[in-house]
Amino acid sequence: MEQNHWKLETIAVQSGYTPENGGPRVQPLVQSTTYKYNDAQSVADLFDLKREGFFYTRLANPTVDCFEKKIAALEGGVAAVATSSGQNANALALLNIARCGDHVVAVSSLYGGTVSLFTNTLKKTGLSFTFVSPEASEEELQAAIRPETKAIFAEVLANPALIVLDIEKFAKVAHRNGLPLVVDNTFPTPFLCRPFEFGADIITHSTTKYLDGHATSVGGMIVEKGGFNWNNGKFPELVEPDESYHGIVYTRDFPACPYSVKMRAQWIRDLGSGMAPYNAFLSMMGTETLHLRMERHCANALALAEFLEKHPKVGWVNYPGLKNSPQQPLVQKYLKRGCSGVLCFGVKGGVKAGEHVMDSLKLAAIAVHVADIRTCVLHPASMTHRQLTEAELVAAGVSPDLIRVSVGIEHIDDLKADFDQALAGA
Ligand code: PLP
Repeated sequence: MEQNHWKLETIAVQSGYTPENGGPRVQPLVQSTTYKYNDAQSVADLFDLKREGFFYTRLANPTVDCFEKKIAALEGGVAAVATSSGQNANALALLNIARCGDHVVAVSSLYGGTVSLFTNTLKKTGLSFTFVSPEASEEELQAAIRPETKAIFAEVLANPALIVLDIEKFAKVAHRNGLPLVVDNTFPTPFLCRPFEFGADIITHSTTKYLDGHATSVGGMIVEKGGFNWNNGKFPELVEPDESYHGIVYTRDFPACPYSVKMRAQWIRDLGSGMAPYNAFLSMMGTETLHLRMERHCANALALAEFLEKHPKVGWVNYPGLKNSPQQPLVQKYLKRGCSGVLCFGVKGGVKAGEHVMDSLKLAAIAVHVADIRTCVLHPASMTHRQLTEAELVAAGVSPDLIRVSVGIEHIDDLKADFDQALAGA
């Protein structure tokens, strides 16, 4: 029943699942590892990818499938693959197209866990990375690209530096070199920005964040735009026979979504990295109210940023939605509907004073999380970005005094009052 003219709000609520006559109104949670068939040939065909269906939940599951379809529709992609976490999504998004000896250009302002994944764990698989400023010029980006480069990777809204990516600029350089632009769209969500419309080719998500929105389920998603020319000599695994799948050729046999089919057939199958059905069920329910929540997250974050900006105890505030933010030109282009619910600030008096403010908050909790309905705060330098070196922290835009606030959807007056009382003692 899906209509491609639906607005995002309708897609969020309605897409992914269409009940049959007399069927359950809500996509059921299919908590089953396996599926029964009446004849052996049907199962053999499924194994050969000759027909669609489910035979083992490590590869695919009806509940997870609905969530994948909903996110693909929200992003405007041809297919999506759900993973066990956002970390997993970012790792597999690259491993699906880059192997030992290959290279990736990434921005330096990534979430600390992603930097650590790239510089430590993926490095051990033989991938190398060059980090560039998220504000790099076309020339600087071009200079970082090597013959063995397989992708450019960036966050649309950096966590926690909150730098808005110039997606079109990055896509232009990537495409000029025959490379896909892979972007992590966790902070904006498709409600605030749809990166495919600006040239991105692959989108990743930590669905743990706003898509779930209620802090119940860790998960990730990789979305394929479709239409990328993988047959340019750089991606042999997509255009040559896959012997682990009876010689299928992803671009030939699955021209609409070769990247996603390869992802499922190889990485999800072999590593068992898929999303658990229960997590998909909860995350999908969260996604159904994404549009309503994001509006409030954005409004509250802007109002709290304006309040903090005027507060005598606050040294600085970073929120791209602030009128005087130097990022306004990029905001007007990429984040017209709002700048999401995360802001950063520093307290006059530095790290110690900031710690005191965090400890004094009563409503906003100290929590290693971001992007759920309850307001929380975190000190990246000593928490999420703890594994980074000092130089990496500077490159990531994380100053020692930076406090990250994930602004929830409570009443703004209560949030302001909480920060006001906490700052009073600073
Ligand atoms: N990408 C971004 C932008 C994140 O903020 C995070 C986690 O905070 C991740 C990826 C990793 O996601 P997960 O915690 O679901 O593995």
